[in-house]
Amino acid sequence: MEHQTMCDAMEMQNDYADYFGCKTFTGDVMLQHLAADVFESLQETIHKGKPLDPAIANSVSDAMKDWAISQGCTHYTHWFQPLTGTTAEKHDAFLEPDHNGGAIAKFSGDMLIRGEPDASSFPSGGIRDTWEARGYTAWDATSPAFILPNEKGGTLCIPTAFVSWTGEALDKKAPLLRSIDIINKHAMRILNIFGETKNATCVHTTLGLEQEYFLVDEEFVANRPDLLICGRTLIGTPPPKGHQLDDHYFGKIPERVLAFMDDAEQQLCELGIPIKTRHNEVAPGQYEIAPTFEKANVAADHQLLLMQILRVKAREHGFVCLMHEKPFAGVNGSGKHNNWSIATDTGVNLLNPGKEPQNNLQFLIFVCGVMRAVDLHADLLRASIASAANDHRLGANEAPPAIISMYFGEMLSDVLDQIESGESRDAREGGTLDIGSSTMPKLDRHSGDRNRTSPFAFTGNKFEFRAVGSTSSVAWPNTILNTIIAESFDYIATTLETALAGSDAPEQRETEVRKLLQEIVKTHRKVVFDGDNYAQAWHDEAERRGLPNLRTTADALPCLTRPAALELFERYNVLSSRELTARAEVCLEQYCTQVQIEARTLLQMLSTQVLPAALRYQLELSQVVSAAREASIECSRTSGRLHDVAELTNALQDAIETVVSAEQYEDPNTTINADQIRDTLLPSMLLARTISDELETLVAEDLWPLPSYTDMLFIR
Ligand code: ADP
Ligand code: MG
Repeated sequence: MEHQTMCDAMEMQNDYADYFGCKTFTGDVMLQHLAADVFESLQETIHKGKPLDPAIANSVSDAMKDWAISQGCTHYTHWFQPLTGTTAEKHDAFLEPDHNGGAIAKFSGDMLIRGEPDASSFPSGGIRDTWEARGYTAWDATSPAFILPNEKGGTLCIPTAFVSWTGEALDKKAPLLRSIDIINKHAMRILNIFGETKNATCVHTTLGLEQEYFLVDEEFVANRPDLLICGRTLIGTPPPKGHQLDDHYFGKIPERVLAFMDDAEQQLCELGIPIKTRHNEVAPGQYEIAPTFEKANVAADHQLLLMQILRVKAREHGFVCLMHEKPFAGVNGSGKHNNWSIATDTGVNLLNPGKEPQNNLQFLIFVCGVMRAVDLHADLLRASIASAANDHRLGANEAPPAIISMYFGEMLSDVLDQIESGESRDAREGGTLDIGSSTMPKLDRHSGDRNRTSPFAFTGNKFEFRAVGSTSSVAWPNTILNTIIAESFDYIATTLETALAGSDAPEQRETEVRKLLQEIVKTHRKVVFDGDNYAQAWHDEAERRGLPNLRTTADALPCLTRPAALELFERYNVLSSRELTARAEVCLEQYCTQVQIEARTLLQMLSTQVLPAALRYQLELSQVVSAAREASIECSRTSGRLHDVAELTNALQDAIETVVSAEQYEDPNTTINADQIRDTLLPSMLLARTISDELETLVAEDLWPLPSYTDMLFIR
């Protein structure tokens, strides 16, 4: 994107919230309700990252209260993101007794800046015991406050970070904010070397998220305990038609679905979320929604809000919105593409290659900084997206594999060749595309193709991290991404500052930058792979290159607590060792708990639904066989079928026993538990599923107690 358009895009977002965001405390609403000096001061914090001036808190809280009450709000809440991965809110009424028998509306600066929810029931990963209940929420002024309306009025929601009494982060926002600060600091040092700090005063990370989801009729979900409890089907045979014909992808959006989308988008726009794209996805029943990118912190908050609103609106339209990474086996899963870039406050996208990328040293140093980070810390990136649900998706020939590599495309790979060899030639250009009909226009072509198999792709002026799961809160993967990249920027800035020793002679800078680029490319290019990431050949090649292939969550999470990782996060003040260890522990616990809940749900379904259905069918078949024999009618086929069903039913009962004993195992050490779940419990569940699915293809449909994949995926 050219500089101008980037500026426009950044500006558009501000205007967007102003224009449509009638439920957000931004732009015009702020202007109307705040005194000019308070408005200016707040803008400095929001747009330039200046520390919040506590003196303005009372004016802002008063203004927010007046605005919220004028919009029908009765309550306010500090809205935060505990480690559960969802959001939390505790509402307080604006009204308080005035001690004269009446009531006044009250919302002070203190109440805006600091809340104190009882924190004892949120996961802390051992940072605190349940009797240590004190936790604080702290106002994040950089993310707009918003109103969630309800039938009687509404609630003013104030985005906040959540920390314990000791100041340790108990949430996903605090570390994200810290990681954004650290990227800013080191990117600015690099810009300073290039003399760019005349214009820019800070660097923002920008984030655009594409959300995939399924819609299933509410009525079917009500009859599927697995969907109700786990968000995914634990049994079920794939439908005869999946996405082989590719006729759903980008197809006409069904009327009922479109009505839901319109409704949801309306509310999202009112909340200032710049919704841009909607379409049918690859699988039947699967869709995508994508807002335009925003500053990372706001985008991360908006993403959580977007998921919440999709879920609520779907219900109003008689659907259930399934965000799970793999609701249906054998059918495409859902991801959340995480488009990441960095931009100055003046609107320059630092990953924009410009017309001559081979000579755009500033661009190259930032891109190579990202490459170095991904190569050095691929394991941490893998861990950042690890969950029981995402394990079903990664590497399943529809989503990127668990091996983290980068796609650079033809143009950039050519530039890397030049850097490595020290030669220089013009960059490859896209040229034009002739469609072959005289009435059609000639189209400009991009300088590189797309590669949808890559987990981390350069897509023209941003990186797209595609391995992020659809249920994920993006704060966590971006915290890790920002931290590892900040470390690379720090390395680059330090190397260049030392080599240049204060000189700002352009020739010397060019020599030193080229030298550093060459070193980085030679050492870290091994993480770049432009081919088919699904192919077995790549898995073999990746192993030769020494790239980690951490297939499951149980394999990936231990990376977070290695000494080097703890030191890295501590060094950049993103997470102390205790905070990071706690997060790893919470992720492991979640992995174990989720699979255990699935196992129990599966057992219940198999024992009380599938097995009885199979036995009833067996009885019907045996009655047919007896009657046929009595009448001397040939019935070897039916008796064969009876035999098959009986054999499968027996096998199912054995499989149930195996799941039961695997599920009962419990070790106090979460790592050992997670390993056992990966090695024993999950395989036992899969075996039971295979048998049940085979029975589903044999048992009479009127006896089968569950809605089928065909019902759920094709009925609208
Ligand atoms: P797709 O990947 O499906 O082709 P697009 O290229 O249109 O989709 O963009 C996907 C997402 O990337 C959108 O949310 C878009 O706003 C976002 N995006 C575009 N430019 C940037 C940027 N500079 N930083 C972060 N995200 C960006
Ligand atoms: Mg994409």
